[in-house]
Amino acid sequence: MQYPAEPFRIKSVEVVSMIDRAQRIEKIKEAGYNTFLLNSEDVYIDLLTDSGTTAMSDRQWAAMMIGDEAYAGSKNFHHLKATVEELFGFKHIIPTHQGRGAENILSQIAIKDGQFVLGNMYFTTTRYHQERNGATFLDIIRQEAHDAAIDIPFKGDVDIDKLKAIISEKGAENIAYICLAVTVNLAGGQPVSMANMRAVSQVAREHGIKVFYDATRCVENAFYIKEQEAGYADKTIQEIVLETFSYADGCTMSGKKDCLVNIGGFLCVNDDELFARAKELVVVYEGMPSYGGMAGRDMEAMAIGLRESIQYEYIEHRVKQVRYLGDKLIAAGVPVVLPIGGHAVFLDARRFCPHLPQEHLPAQSLAASIYVETGVRAMERGIVSGGRDAVTGKNHSPKLETVRLTIPRRVYTYAHMDVVADGIIRLYQQREDIKGLKFVYEPKQLRFFTARFDYL
Ligand SMILES: *Cc1c(COP(=O)(O)O)cnc(C)c1O
Repeated sequence: MQYPAEPFRIKSVEVVSMIDRAQRIEKIKEAGYNTFLLNSEDVYIDLLTDSGTTAMSDRQWAAMMIGDEAYAGSKNFHHLKATVEELFGFKHIIPTHQGRGAENILSQIAIKDGQFVLGNMYFTTTRYHQERNGATFLDIIRQEAHDAAIDIPFKGDVDIDKLKAIISEKGAENIAYICLAVTVNLAGGQPVSMANMRAVSQVAREHGIKVFYDATRCVENAFYIKEQEAGYADKTIQEIVLETFSYADGCTMSGKKDCLVNIGGFLCVNDDELFARAKELVVVYEGMPSYGGMAGRDMEAMAIGLRESIQYEYIEHRVKQVRYLGDKLIAAGVPVVLPIGGHAVFLDARRFCPHLPQEHLPAQSLAASIYVETGVRAMERGIVSGGRDAVTGKNHSPKLETVRLTIPRRVYTYAHMDVVADGIIRLYQQREDIKGLKFVYEPKQLRFFTARFDYL
């Protein structure tokens, strides 16, 4: 395997340092064993998320000075709109403060109380907004995606038979829309193939059901298609992205990921009527339809970031740097979700901590131990993130109990990846010492962000 060197050089640096182990033990205790509650200055390598943690380019920083901060009709909005129209091919775009702002609006305009939303595995904030608007979420991802050890390409694909079965069981009129995530974050950053997107769109069209994409990592998804799907090796990333969205009626986008910026998002729709309703709501929750919670300068940086993200050298390095970390861990026998996804390496906490049952929150505890052992901050993506069933109040018990090591874009080097891998390999050798946790504070919604824990 060849790992490409960084396709950039460094113009500005941010100094980081590591506090000692005794201090880290103290800090994680103060944080209630929740890595979300650690302070950034107490973290050496921050792999909590790839959301908004991107390093912007010199061109993006320069663009910040040409922000047009008019309340309405900013020229940066027109630049962003033209860029999204050209790269994604949608008719209408509404900027939002971040991805969940777009999810909030889409869920309100496209869901009627009591309907179903079908999706290829859930995402936390996305499902929250869908349920809040009266929908029941049904998972239609291929079965293999729930098994961390199965190593197959396009593990994010929809199970088309399951999709058809649910449509005939529930009735097309009771399905609000299909929410297709490219890539699938919670499955381990697994991509969706173009063939599958085409098939989903065909089934949906036959039944008059709309398809909205969670486009958050659509460029990473396009890289996998180019690398692994027959017929796409000679296509550009831009061509693949455009084809991707030709199978959708719209999308929500978290700009904090593949748009290479620190904040922002947008909603796209083709339907004129949905657009009119979305415009009515954006002024309630976000701002004028021409800024939707973003500053003019942020929209300018996003327009430029989107174009940079579809450069082959950028996206190849991005995905392969993540793979480099994954390959090092695999070589040392550390259990990870296979294959390695586009934005993160997911440790399989079930196999890392086989001595801990899921009720003892193995992934939450593993994330806390990683911090103590290495100064690296990771994130739980298991039963804690899964939350409780909105109706029964019971814990969702996801098959995947993982810790996500998420790589920020253009921020860390391969040497940083070595430090992360070595630390986790060290921890793996003493994994029996990792103890179970219990909730001491559990918020009602999206509990993983602010919950607190203690050792059993
Ligand atoms: C981050 C994310 C979102 C939500 O976007 P925010 O910008 O954080 O509000 C939605 N879907 C996926 C897959 C994400 O990773």
